[in-house]
Amino acid sequence: MRKVVKFGGSSLANAEQFQKVGDIIRSEESRRYVVPSAPGKRFSKDTKVTDMLYACYDAAVAGDDFSGQLKAIKDRYYEIIRGLKLDLSLEEEFKQIEADFKNQAGSDYAASRGEFLNGKIMAAYLGYEFVDAASVIRFDKNGNFDSEKTDKLLSRRLAKCEKAVIPGFYGACEDGVVKTFSRGGSDVTGSLVAKAIKADVYENWTDVSGFLVTDPRIVDNPAVIETITYRELRELSYMGATVLHEEAIFPVRKEGIPINIRNTNKPEDEGTFIVESTCKKPKYTITGIAGKKGFCSINIEKSLMNSEIGFGRKILQVFEDQGISFEHVPSGIDTMTVYVHQDEFEEKEQQVIAGIHRAVQPDFVEMESDLALIAVVGRGMKSTRGTAGRIFSALAHVNVNVKMIDQGSSELNIIIGVENRDFETAVKAIYDIFVITQI
Ligand code: ASP
Repeated sequence: MRKVVKFGGSSLANAEQFQKVGDIIRSEESRRYVVPSAPGKRFSKDTKVTDMLYACYDAAVAGDDFSGQLKAIKDRYYEIIRGLKLDLSLEEEFKQIEADFKNQAGSDYAASRGEFLNGKIMAAYLGYEFVDAASVIRFDKNGNFDSEKTDKLLSRRLAKCEKAVIPGFYGACEDGVVKTFSRGGSDVTGSLVAKAIKADVYENWTDVSGFLVTDPRIVDNPAVIETITYRELRELSYMGATVLHEEAIFPVRKEGIPINIRNTNKPEDEGTFIVESTCKKPKYTITGIAGKKGFCSINIEKSLMNSEIGFGRKILQVFEDQGISFEHVPSGIDTMTVYVHQDEFEEKEQQVIAGIHRAVQPDFVEMESDLALIAVVGRGMKSTRGTAGRIFSALAHVNVNVKMIDQGSSELNIIIGVENRDFETAVKAIYDIFVITQI
């Protein structure tokens, strides 16, 4: 059994957290490849080391004295080294970083040092080999991630290591210039390592015990999802559920490697398994409820629209030309409604309306703002009659008016549009009916 274990910033914020991580790794022989993030927040008002590095580098670029900022970063690492009673010096590394900052090595390089240094500490603490991500995670000359090269380099290099620490978040171009993934990108590194070594499981350790059925800011103590498929997760994540970096699922998904989200502070919890497919029946009919406020709908009406070939394309072209992505396009015989993000749309509103008039000469165009979309997702819905009925009677019960319904033929999700002010009430009502009362 071979596992890749990735630990997030809060799991590595100080020596005490490092010790928990060490205990977790040592408790299973299979936890052989470790991907650390940079130290995160120790308390809610604290600053992540990655953010300290960005700010320090900005000062360096502006020609300001950045020695105080660099010292504060160094202190974070030495607090960990001392707490772990390690005999490890990072003086050489910090000298190099200072020189590279003066030479303006780039903000990606600056941010990457957070993981690089934490990886050094982790390797010393565990007695594992340190593998610099710059030598195994490859970006092309345009700065785009090169998955084929990376897979080759990683698998070749790790075949030679029994046990290794590979820092998350960054890699390098052929010429050595360091590049990072987007924020939270250590998740992606973990996934790439899991793919390269053909891991049995990719464990992603964080500060929650897995994915929750819904947002804990809306429902108190929501249930944990035991097993979720990659498709379900995509449906939920696009509505804003963030535990895992979106791009982290693709490398392992292709290989059929499950991801197990675990809690460093509660290692006894099983967490959530993310799998390609499963015959395990979900505990509840629905797997999760996610949603977001802040959408606008643009309703276009034109008599005999249904027989006008290319109508839909012309409308969507107007949005494309303005660089606005659409979320949903429900339609009727003479109407078509486009749902877009309010913040993307508002400033281009008049150009879009003019564009629609020019493109299709509609009878009229009507708009509505302050709408919320809720996605009710679950593989269990496919084989269960009456799911939609239960959702809508629950919403009627709490006096929520439904503005839009969209169910794809996959029967994996139902999207519901409501007014922003009804959003929380609606989510609670749907959660109650499927998880609490289960009627
Ligand atoms: N340290 C980086 C960040 O704060 C990457 C990560 O933690 O995954 O975004």
